[in-house]
Amino acid sequence: MTTAVLPSPPQLSRVAPESDTLLGVYIHFPFCTTKCTYCAFVTRSYVADLAERYVGALETELQCFPTTCATLPLNFATRRADTLYIGGGTPSRLTPHQLERLLKACRAVFDLTPDAEITVEVNPGDATYERLAAYRALGVNRLSLGVQSFFDPDLVLTGRDHDANAARQAFQAARRAGFDNLSLDLIAGLPGQTGVTWRANLSEALALMPEHLSLYLLEVKAHTTLARQLAAGRLTVPDDDLAAELYLTTLDVLTQAGFETYEISNFARPGYRARHNLKYWTDMPYAAFGVGAHGYDGSERYWNDDRLENYLLQVEQTGSAVAGRTQRTPQERWQEAVILGLRLSDGVSLQVLRKRYGVDLHDYRAAISELQVTGLLTVTSDRLYLTPRGRLLSNEVFLAFS
Ligand code: SF4
Repeated sequence: MTTAVLPSPPQLSRVAPESDTLLGVYIHFPFCTTKCTYCAFVTRSYVADLAERYVGALETELQCFPTTCATLPLNFATRRADTLYIGGGTPSRLTPHQLERLLKACRAVFDLTPDAEITVEVNPGDATYERLAAYRALGVNRLSLGVQSFFDPDLVLTGRDHDANAARQAFQAARRAGFDNLSLDLIAGLPGQTGVTWRANLSEALALMPEHLSLYLLEVKAHTTLARQLAAGRLTVPDDDLAAELYLTTLDVLTQAGFETYEISNFARPGYRARHNLKYWTDMPYAAFGVGAHGYDGSERYWNDDRLENYLLQVEQTGSAVAGRTQRTPQERWQEAVILGLRLSDGVSLQVLRKRYGVDLHDYRAAISELQVTGLLTVTSDRLYLTPRGRLLSNEVFLAFS
């Protein structure tokens, strides 16, 4: 097999990835049984034959990764990885046998550390005990359950293919299957949601005693069913004041329950931060596989074709479906690292940024002072952090660094 050759981007001064950095690996599975009304991802209806062909393509893409790296070239400093994340779409549609093949292909290319975090996103509708036990036996050690709401009317309204009881049962099945690292996804700000119903959602989530919670505020994306329903006046979503109230309630309730707000929308019991997602927020490299998947070698970002038929044909014929790549200047990387890093409660270390990108604050001193004065940013001798108010208005802060 040969690998597609893309024209090299203009050569900019490269900032070499640190050689002791461990990789993350991401595998994308785009199939879903239904389309949620708020979803703007490119997804495809689950069809068993097509999914099977896709799994075969993923195996091929993984096997050809060393050739792809050499040909493009991509400058991954290591093949040692300490996280693997299988996301979607709905990867819990993978049969245990398909998952086993993917893990085998992944382990043949990447040296997964013995303590690697291996996560699969799970739709409660797929989460039988048998399936989850099989996943656990294959080495998956973390599940991210897409609950979204514990209120059935919310789930019906948003087109989810499960009810709240299925989510509770999925969680219990995961525990029985031996998972001791479980994350729940909930969406705040769904149409008709109030402070009372959101608080009840948090109580339901806490009653299950998960290790991690991802609680995202609903974003209405263009061209979604939800956007059309809102435009037609059939639904309304909480206004900014209520959205702020929901977020402050979340901080209050989860802090009292012993969770760390380690990222704007992510909360963990001590020791259970999502290690894979931390790679995105701390500018660490990750290899990515699957239709439309985006990877990063620590210097250059690259992405696969996001049209399923093209992806399948390209991988089947050449072993790779990389469709584009971009190299950013150290200044651009610095900006991105600040914006992503400020999402974290640990903030960003100016010394680390200076060492990694050779860039200093220079151009941003005035903006930083202003953000400090308006109470959005805390500045110490070496770090920048968002204040609680800054977390609420984080987009305003990020704009200052764009
Ligand atoms: S399950 Fe996830 S990826 Fe699939 S349609 Fe719903 S939100 Fe989109």
